[in-house]
Amino acid sequence: MKKNFKATTAGSLPKHDWLAETETLWPQWKVSGDELWDKQKKSAKLWIEEQENAGLEIISEGEQFRIHFVHGFLEKISGIDWDKKTQMGIRNDRYTVEVPTVTDAVQRQGSVHLKEASFLRENTENMTKFTLPGPLTISDTIANDYYNSSQDMAMHFAQLLNDEAKELAKAGIDIIQFDEPAFNSFTTESIDCGMEALEIAAANLDCKTAVHICYGYGIEENLNWKKTLGEQWKEYESLFPEINKSSIDQISLEFAGSNVPPELMRLLPDKEIMVGVIGVVNDHIETANEVKDNIIEALKHMDSERLIACSNCGMAPISVEVARRKIRALGLGAELANKQFNSLL
Ligand code: ZN
Repeated sequence: MKKNFKATTAGSLPKHDWLAETETLWPQWKVSGDELWDKQKKSAKLWIEEQENAGLEIISEGEQFRIHFVHGFLEKISGIDWDKKTQMGIRNDRYTVEVPTVTDAVQRQGSVHLKEASFLRENTENMTKFTLPGPLTISDTIANDYYNSSQDMAMHFAQLLNDEAKELAKAGIDIIQFDEPAFNSFTTESIDCGMEALEIAAANLDCKTAVHICYGYGIEENLNWKKTLGEQWKEYESLFPEINKSSIDQISLEFAGSNVPPELMRLLPDKEIMVGVIGVVNDHIETANEVKDNIIEALKHMDSERLIACSNCGMAPISVEVARRKIRALGLGAELANKQFNSLL
């Protein structure tokens, strides 16, 4: 059967209960030292096989080696005081968390994720994707007590991300995706400073680049926030034209179960689009038909070769079993959509 488009997940997947606490955004590891590395690899390998078996073409390690997508990167960066906790309202005050504080020039002390990316590369023949936090989202998830402004801090983090991304690309990763959920919280600021920082992070890489911009994990704070956004979610409207002008190859966006008008995808005529065709809430598992319908709807607004069927966001905080079933629905739905699309040609 001719495959008209690819399928993938946004990136993160839940951790198994023998590795870390489950169904929470900031879990604790249950093991340490060599045993931690061994179990992280085992967990990642299970998810790699799960994605392959579902028929996904672009595979991630499910972020099994990091507790949180931002702090997993920051843990190995110097210039951050982890004991100096600051209470901060993040994502435009959507939730308040205790974050560490930048107290000196930030520097990367060698590779952060290279071992994990190499493990992914060695364990699948498919295309690989590795996620990194975007510079704007990092600077929205850490307190600044050193740089002139959080924008200035974002530019410094962008350079560190670029150094890291170059190493991951050299290790054979096919797509580096920068996760920028903060873009949707501050649209004016995002466009002014976020795109500039993103271009620094993504400059001169020997692989494809992607940006993931969503309405957040399927957790209560985000679900409540979404209820305030009205009948039509227009946050993407001012962002997409800027992204279309950028050097970034792919954009991952939220669509399934959302109030995002699908015609906004037309604002990205020059990009590959990872369309969220499955949601990431714990209490709804899409049927393959629902996934198929979402893909067919998105195909009305772009050429099939630019579509990549994807999840709306990371699945880190949902249950292992629900994530497994969603990945299978994604694979099956993509297959059904392919068949239907072929029959329309
Ligand atoms: Zn997301």
